[in-house]
Amino acid sequence: MWYTVEGRNDAHQMIMQCPYCGSSRIETGITWGMSVNTGDVGLRYDFGFMGEGIAQAYSDLCLDCKSILRIYIREETDKNWVHKSDDAGER
Ligand SMILES: [Zn+2]
Repeated sequence: MWYTVEGRNDAHQMIMQCPYCGSSRIETGITWGMSVNTGDVGLRYDFGFMGEGIAQAYSDLCLDCKSILRIYIREETDKNWVHKSDDAGER
């Protein structure tokens, strides 16, 4: 039932343990979202002439101590990532 990232088969990804409480009850691949539909939460990247895109973020959650263990994306990382944060107001 463990999710493996497409194209990758990391053996050590099969054994997941929470580094905080030691639990192995890890729910993987939980989608980030907002209660209000204002768009996807994720990492921004420059699309070139198309504007900006959002790489949807996912997380693994420890079901015992409720820590978020990882935040990751599933798409290609070969993107023009946006680093500036001073334009958060515009949409
Ligand atoms: Zn834990």
